[in-house]
Amino acid sequence: MKSDVLVIGGGVVGLSVARELQTLGKSTVLIDRIPVGTGCSFANAGWVTPCFAMPLPQPGMFFKSMKWLLDSSSPLHIQPSLSPTLIRWLWRFMCAMNRPQMLRSIEVLTEISKYSLDFYSQLASRVGPSIQFEKRGLLMVSATSSGVQAAIDEMNLMAERGIPGRKLSRDEVLAFEPTLRPVVQGGVYFPEEAQLEPYSASLALAKEFESAGGKILPPAEAYDFTLQNGAITEVHTTQGPLQADLVVLATGSWSPELARRLNLNIPILGGKGYSMTLEGVSRKPTHSMMLVDRKIAVTPFPDRLRIAGTLELVNQDFSVSVSRLRAIYQGAHEYLDLGLKTEVARKDSSTEAQSLPASISARDLWRGLRPCTPDGVPLIGFSSKVKNLFYCTGHQMLGLQSAPGSARLASDLIFGRTPLTHSKPFSPARFE
Ligand SMILES: Cc1cc2nc3c(=O)[nH]c(=O)nc-3n(C[C@H](O)[C@H](O)[C@H](O)COP(=O)(O)OP(=O)(O)OC[C@H]3O[C@@H](n4cnc5c(N)ncnc54)[C@H](O)[C@@H]3O)c2cc1C
Repeated sequence: MKSDVLVIGGGVVGLSVARELQTLGKSTVLIDRIPVGTGCSFANAGWVTPCFAMPLPQPGMFFKSMKWLLDSSSPLHIQPSLSPTLIRWLWRFMCAMNRPQMLRSIEVLTEISKYSLDFYSQLASRVGPSIQFEKRGLLMVSATSSGVQAAIDEMNLMAERGIPGRKLSRDEVLAFEPTLRPVVQGGVYFPEEAQLEPYSASLALAKEFESAGGKILPPAEAYDFTLQNGAITEVHTTQGPLQADLVVLATGSWSPELARRLNLNIPILGGKGYSMTLEGVSRKPTHSMMLVDRKIAVTPFPDRLRIAGTLELVNQDFSVSVSRLRAIYQGAHEYLDLGLKTEVARKDSSTEAQSLPASISARDLWRGLRPCTPDGVPLIGFSSKVKNLFYCTGHQMLGLQSAPGSARLASDLIFGRTPLTHSKPFSPARFE
């Protein structure tokens, strides 16, 4: 089968790119080895929050990251290892921990996120309530004065990018969100931020792609390529060979594995995170919330509550850590009175503390690998080594909220239009 474009990867990023290119007249085929939208895009926190468009490496993180190496229960954890991949990644991560680079990254990440927020708002008006798009705003709260200050610093940075926020004292925040416990010392509210149900959003993108004439093939894994004169002439998949003028790599945290088949070495590691989705919560918060000190995201959907957190740098490791799940649940419980029937087991009770509260069943638990680049900026652009290869991958914690903006930037570059924002920070050549 031959098409103008073959997109490999049917997460929210691949679907957004495929939809954009098909709508603009390129005949596009998309493949995934699993049903679309069921990778890392499946049960994330659902935030579409440009105020949160920060790269992972930030100034002053060096000592913190050393601590994470040693503390397996920290919300951000780096599994110590002598793997050359990890060492190279960490070196680049540390080099990116400077203010000028962080500000350049914030500028472009907020641009693609703001574009995405508008896009999802329009998507919701086209497809109706199925994607549960709501502009509830985002509340950042902390139980420490340093945490409150960190939220205020972020608010000031974001104000420079045109994203409004307002500071809330302890009393104001407790009145504003009555499910919060008095441990909270204050926070910041960003009123224009939104949320949606991530899997439904992927399905809506897939539907629009297919309605525009795009093709999603039955699950197929790309495992190799034929290269001729520096260009891909054939993609080998478990459903047979495919040909396209342009191949888009949108394979999230699996990207390095596939890129290696083209002798390309791109530094993406999986940032493992968990979510649990609770039903029957009698006291549901009104706003999406970031519990700053615990780095826990709380998202109230109309019928459920999702709690998400932790970022553990791994390779392709999908194992589940019950202690991390417990840390997320306990962290949320410390800050929020959700009126759950089962109280959390005491921290010091060894066997009891190993199991989750009865109110959480296995089907509520999920983990995903965020595709993390060491400088916290995705790769969006043509390969400098393989003529007809285009990357759209490495969206770290921001894939949902920046996918439509990334797709727009990708199509600007592919069609040679003025790009939505500076494209240089996204250039794959910085790593290839
Ligand atoms: C706990 C948690 C909470 C999060 N919360 C948010 C949030 O609130 N907002 C936000 O913006 N982001 C959030 N994220 C991050 C977000 O989920 C990711 O950035 C995003 O899903 C990445 O999308 P993707 O399309 O690049 O990857 P994926 O969704 O993983 O898609 C990649 C696809 O490529 C396919 N693939 C891989 N290799 C091959 C191959 N060889 N052949 C065929 N197919 C292949 C995979 O099967 C997969 O379906 C969160 C992540 C986690 C873990």
